[in-house]
Amino acid sequence: MVEIPSTTKLTADHGTFSIPTGLFLNGEWRPAQDGAVIPVVNPATGEEFAAVSDASLKDAADALDAASAAQEPWGLTKPRVRAELLRKAFDAVIARTDDFAWTMATEMGKPLAEARGEVAYAAEFLRWFSEQVPSQTGNYGPAPDGDYRIITTYQPVGPSLLITPWNFPLAMGTRKVGAALAAGCTVIIKPASQTPLTMHLFVEVLRSVGIPDGVVNLVTTSKSGAQSSALMSDRRLRKVSFTGSTGVGTALLKQAADNVMASSMELGGNGPFLVLSDADVDAAAEGAVTAKFRNAGQACVAANRIIVHKDVLPAFRESFLKRVAELRVGAGTAAGTTVGPLVDGKQRDSVLKLLETAKGEGANVLAGGHAIEGEGFFMEPTVIDGVAPGSTIARAEIFGPVAVLYAADSDDDAIDMANDTEYGLVAYLYTQNLSKAMRAAERLETGMVGINRAIISEAASPFGGIKSSGLGREGGPTGIEEYQDMKYIALTL
Ligand code: NAP
Repeated sequence: MVEIPSTTKLTADHGTFSIPTGLFLNGEWRPAQDGAVIPVVNPATGEEFAAVSDASLKDAADALDAASAAQEPWGLTKPRVRAELLRKAFDAVIARTDDFAWTMATEMGKPLAEARGEVAYAAEFLRWFSEQVPSQTGNYGPAPDGDYRIITTYQPVGPSLLITPWNFPLAMGTRKVGAALAAGCTVIIKPASQTPLTMHLFVEVLRSVGIPDGVVNLVTTSKSGAQSSALMSDRRLRKVSFTGSTGVGTALLKQAADNVMASSMELGGNGPFLVLSDADVDAAAEGAVTAKFRNAGQACVAANRIIVHKDVLPAFRESFLKRVAELRVGAGTAAGTTVGPLVDGKQRDSVLKLLETAKGEGANVLAGGHAIEGEGFFMEPTVIDGVAPGSTIARAEIFGPVAVLYAADSDDDAIDMANDTEYGLVAYLYTQNLSKAMRAAERLETGMVGINRAIISEAASPFGGIKSSGLGREGGPTGIEEYQDMKYIALTL
């Protein structure tokens, strides 16, 4: 029986369960060396309900020592063994679906139904990568002049720092951890300060299935910049994988350059949602509600700009507003909630400020438009139109429950408007004409395109952006390679 020195208890509808609150270093849960903690707040009430250890730079150094020491044996562990551990982790996460869902609903406000969906999606990365490990092969072939042989093989890149955001606190972890462990890398995980408990529970699941000591280390900290700088200046760290804002990602890339460190960056988005002249308007309206209001709009893949051909705009607007009126705002843990609170007061204030600026730039409020008085960080699902494509809100990543409608004069105009942004993560496209859909998908400057569908995230597909939305693809057939170096061996026979 492993002793877990410090835990917090959550009481859910399905029962009470414990989550370790310490740091996880070299196979042990332990407090931060200076005893510091980070409070965890329920955004539906604004109340602190738990605290987790706040890693010092010394704790982070210990994590890197442990990850470095474990790297060689883990990299040499039989692929089948790594695969079976990941498969066990998949089963264990699924078995604890309600615990994970309740944790996310409590610490970030995600509605329970959505949170359960995230658990299924998140766990799938563990199964997906468990299936990839034993089947990965290299290449063998003659050099063009036939003199020798060209062999290529994959090797783990080495100890990896994984920094994750609060909006998908489990899935962004499993996507990185699954690929890194599959590739044979040891990891140091740094979850977002607002949502540490989900990751602490996941790390406990990894411990419980038998991941060897030092392979997974968890250093939750409030000193994220200082911690990543210290770790990244140490040449033993060979990889940084970050999901979060473009500003932080850019700063990390600059630091990575100093040691020419491998980097994967999943950054911000400004997702266009295009409704072309021949779209099924009701299907598009249904999709737009999902793409905009899922996770209270706090998603990098949210529909940030809903661009509708002017001929179908009146019908689309009516159908969309009808559906928005049916959304139910409430605590993530409350039955029937479809839109939870914003993650914290800062996030809500930034969305309200963008809305006020939009009003000053000519926006008409068609629905909602206000914060909800009382406890917690709630906001009405809001719909506006009347702002120009170059306005402040059109340029910003809204990250909240505010939908903005834009009219396009033609289908080509809609695509030009969609591309008029520094970001390039995802675009959504509704049309009933296949040729038009494929031509538009090819022209859209994004890493991903959803045609007649509003949810595209899937472990088996390559997730990632272009332009300021990032570098690299996580998940999908090549996700494991983000954590590997390709080695070329020349062989004279
Ligand atoms: P964020 O402020 O960039 O934070 C993300 C993570 O980075 C957190 O763990 C944060 O820790 C840490 N961090 C903050 N400053 C840092 C620094 N100077 N050095 C190292 N780490 C640092 O972003 P967020 O507000 O949590 O998340 C929202 C953003 O993530 C949005 O822009 C969204 O589009 C993006 N996102 C992108 C994807 C994608 O796949 N493309 C997916 C989800 C989210 P602390 O919490 O301790 O500050």
